[in-house]
Amino acid sequence: MLDRARRVIPTGVWGHNRFPAFLGPGRYPVFARRAQGAHFEDVDGRHYIDYMCGYGAMITGFANPAVDAAATARMAMGDCLNQPTETSVLLAERLTELIPDMAWAGFGKNGSDAVSTAFLIARAHTGRTKIVCVNGAYHGSHSWCNWCNIGAGRPAEDSSMVLPVDWNDLAGMRELFEAEGDSIAAVLMTPFHHPFAAPAELPDEAWWPGVSALCRDGEALLLVDDVRAGFRLDLAGSHRYFGFSPDLICLSKALANTHPLSVVLGVDRCREAAEKVFAAGTFWSASAPMAAALANLDLLCEPGRFDRMQRLAGQLCDGLVAHGAAVGLTLEITGPPTIPTVTIAGDHDFALMTAFAENMVARGSFVHPTHNWFFSAAHDEDDVAATLTHAQGALETAAGTTTR
Ligand code: PMP
Repeated sequence: MLDRARRVIPTGVWGHNRFPAFLGPGRYPVFARRAQGAHFEDVDGRHYIDYMCGYGAMITGFANPAVDAAATARMAMGDCLNQPTETSVLLAERLTELIPDMAWAGFGKNGSDAVSTAFLIARAHTGRTKIVCVNGAYHGSHSWCNWCNIGAGRPAEDSSMVLPVDWNDLAGMRELFEAEGDSIAAVLMTPFHHPFAAPAELPDEAWWPGVSALCRDGEALLLVDDVRAGFRLDLAGSHRYFGFSPDLICLSKALANTHPLSVVLGVDRCREAAEKVFAAGTFWSASAPMAAALANLDLLCEPGRFDRMQRLAGQLCDGLVAHGAAVGLTLEITGPPTIPTVTIAGDHDFALMTAFAENMVARGSFVHPTHNWFFSAAHDEDDVAATLTHAQGALETAAGTTTR
């Protein structure tokens, strides 16, 4: 499949899976055939319990019957029409009810759309041009927010509007506001820091109150990029989990359970700016993903479902740490259990994590060596038990074959 793909697709794997391409056993990318619930099957007929969940897009299960039936029913009435649909109004109503203080919603397709639109709204609201972002944070593939310059063809000018600061560096933030406050339209941050190939970092106690106060006093908007963590920490927004109040919230990934949809939500005082900006895409009004989102939210809000996801994710993380300790490896799990980053103490070049992940994939649990994993409400007790058995063997092998 890779040989065929390489002939017609640059590198054979398009998109974020190629930076860096995650290689499975035999060191080639796994091509998927089908998925159901928390499992997928590859083109060679191997089965996996999936802990990447479509990079977070899946939360209530691949091919979820209720979610997909809602999308199909809407599709039967026409999906991408030229006119807005009632479905968009229903979903905007639902999200503004679910997420306190949010008064309006504007839809897009990808997380990158939502984040870029939020920046535009912040500029329109403040009449300023710049945005503060955290070093190492990923906010999408659009040129302005790719200040780490991943990939070729990106001149530094494209990200010249971004002022970088380190996570939890409140003094650095204060200095930025003192030096550039008049040009800062917004501060854009994920609710906790989940960089690539590094442990996740939770906010210090003073971080969100401090950032919020600097935004308020500096008259800049506080934008939370909840694209990745959204619906995995708190159904009413990850900012609630950490106890702060943003002006604009960007959601995507798990919102419509694998159907393409993103949204910018905002407080009432940003409505006027949202009315003035031009942000659009031909497919942004497609209604089937919105119907999917409504059904997905219904499922997630069913009593017990969210708590069960938290509990099982915690069991998985605790079990991994115990199995690591049994073979002399200190597994460090950073970030909340439903979106954990797994690293191994002393494994600076990720050789151990790579050996561990490749062994896990070979045994049937699909995990990533350098990216955070995703847990879902579709994983059950049997999945966790099977994965912990896989981990026991994979950790033994990794500890035995890799020298530090
Ligand atoms: N923000 C964050 C925090 C993300 O994790 C991602 C995607 N990984 C994005 C924005 C961009 O979303 P998308 O890939 O849907 O454009």
